[in-house]
Amino acid sequence: MKQELINHLRALGADLIGFSSVRRWEERNEVPADFRPQSIWPLARTVIVLGLQMPLPMVDTTPSVLHMELYRTANQELDGLAYKTVRYLNSRGYPSIFFTRDGYGSMRALRENPRAAFSHVVAAVYAGLGTVGANNVLLTKEFGPRVRLISVFTSLEVEPDPMQEKDLCIKCGFCVKCCPANALTMREDRVLGDYDKMACLSHSEELVRQRIYPCGVCTKVCPVGKDRELYQEKTLGKKYLEEKEALAANPDDPRYRSWNHIRRYGRAPKIER
Ligand code: SF4
Ligand code: SF4
Repeated sequence: MKQELINHLRALGADLIGFSSVRRWEERNEVPADFRPQSIWPLARTVIVLGLQMPLPMVDTTPSVLHMELYRTANQELDGLAYKTVRYLNSRGYPSIFFTRDGYGSMRALRENPRAAFSHVVAAVYAGLGTVGANNVLLTKEFGPRVRLISVFTSLEVEPDPMQEKDLCIKCGFCVKCCPANALTMREDRVLGDYDKMACLSHSEELVRQRIYPCGVCTKVCPVGKDRELYQEKTLGKKYLEEKEALAANPDDPRYRSWNHIRRYGRAPKIER
């Protein structure tokens, strides 16, 4: 059944597919009880995590309308993918539900309660899709952090995938140095960086006003991911690190010409406060 399901999910368009038993939430005891799949839906036995890639050259243009629309498209595709998966499993006699890819309705909702009812990142780690980097985002071998996630809860018992043992984050610090809101800080004692949610949120609120949300700089600059080979972008580190200062000194710096071209169109003007 597992291979049949994988074939079906691939045919539906999933780029990444991972399986975790709901028991992993209990065994690892890292997530508060109410946020675990069986608390949310008691029939759940397996969580299937599905991922869709975010093409790197489009992410490179962030903040831009192009990146915003890519994000929206990926989200819509994810919801459709999960919905179809649920209906497929239901038709086979395995009751299932999905947890939508974003668990918040607005920036204001996030500001009042900056946490979703369920974490796809934790689910993806438990389903063996990757590890969490200093940027607090899931890193995958295939696409680094340039992947969007959704989770299907099913009553079907499936052999879980092994979790990845080795951290994918190489602690290069690019995400920390390039974050426009200084929301990330490297830690000596662990891979996961400190994350100032409110600093990130304040920056995101401005991007929403300009119709170029989300930010995603910490996903664009990460060197992890085979997608860099596909797009022949393995050597962009210096360009990323110098981007902010170079454009402040010369908004028409030729190295950033194509990204700037895309950024200049379709956005709402910045409101000075
Ligand atoms: S999304 Fe942007 S502001 Fe938020 S942590 Fe990442 S780089 Fe910083
Ligand atoms: S940019 Fe570097 S430090 Fe940040 S998550 Fe990626 S590998 Fe880790």
